[in-house]
Amino acid sequence: PDMMIEGVVADFKPSQVLVFPIAFEETTLGTLVIASDKLFGKDAMWLLRIFQQGMGLALNNALTHDRLQQIASRDPLTSLYNRRFGMDRLKIEFEQAARHHGPVGVIMFDIDFFKKINDTYGHLAGDQVLVEVAAVTRKVLRDTDVFIRYGGEEFLIVMPGAGCEVAATVAERLRAAIEGYSFSDGEHVIPVTVSCGVAEHSVVMKSSEDLLRRADDALYAAKAGGRNRVVTLAQGGKAQSPATDEVVPQGDLVPA
Ligand code: GH3
Ligand code: MG
Ligand code: MG
Repeated sequence: PDMMIEGVVADFKPSQVLVFPIAFEETTLGTLVIASDKLFGKDAMWLLRIFQQGMGLALNNALTHDRLQQIASRDPLTSLYNRRFGMDRLKIEFEQAARHHGPVGVIMFDIDFFKKINDTYGHLAGDQVLVEVAAVTRKVLRDTDVFIRYGGEEFLIVMPGAGCEVAATVAERLRAAIEGYSFSDGEHVIPVTVSCGVAEHSVVMKSSEDLLRRADDALYAAKAGGRNRVVTLAQGGKAQSPATDEVVPQGDLVPA
């Protein structure tokens, strides 16, 4: 009786306030509160009942759609973006960079000797390592970086606005963070390291696949160079390590 409504147009003292649950099947999804300075008539009540039913259905559809989209774009183990969604995002960011001449860097990284981790500590411990590698890595990234589970134990980070040097710095930070993190199966300490390949968009690249290939080549060089390191393939086709800035011909290996 003493209720006041603060309206957009005017504040008023309502004569009647109706509270409708918005439900779908047995689940309440929300509440509809309607106030009026007059009493609601029979026609208004009838319309509100119809509206209430429609709202339940619409809200349920919207929530289901949202949930399905979430499921469709994420890897269930790590909650990172899955490969399919990630490739779409990479393509969008690549095209954006090509149009606006802004940089986009990528880091491709892969856990070193992961097969051995599985063989030694078991597949479940391996799964846990994947989850924790994702969590530790997320902490060194910005919110705008797109973090993707690219393959089994291979990850891709798309960094809009970041050139090679920034991406390489982040890669080195994540490499060190993984090396320094204490992984464990509850009984044993599990030593984990990653190798990182860094590349950036350049004007000679025709598609996002060219960028991906370049990052993959850099990752391959990091593996061949002894693992637990970052290798950058800059635009001129030079491989370099961020620690030394030493530049060597493409294909050659640079110690970390
Ligand atoms: P490298 O240093 O050259 O990367 O060696 P590696 O042993 O990490 O690479 P390899 O490709 O030989 O092995 C990858 C292993 O990752 C094999 C596969 O069984 C394992 N793997 C892939 N996906 C998953 C997963 O979801 N969970 C677990 N536990 N293991 C996985
Ligand atoms: Mg591996
Ligand atoms: Mg691999």
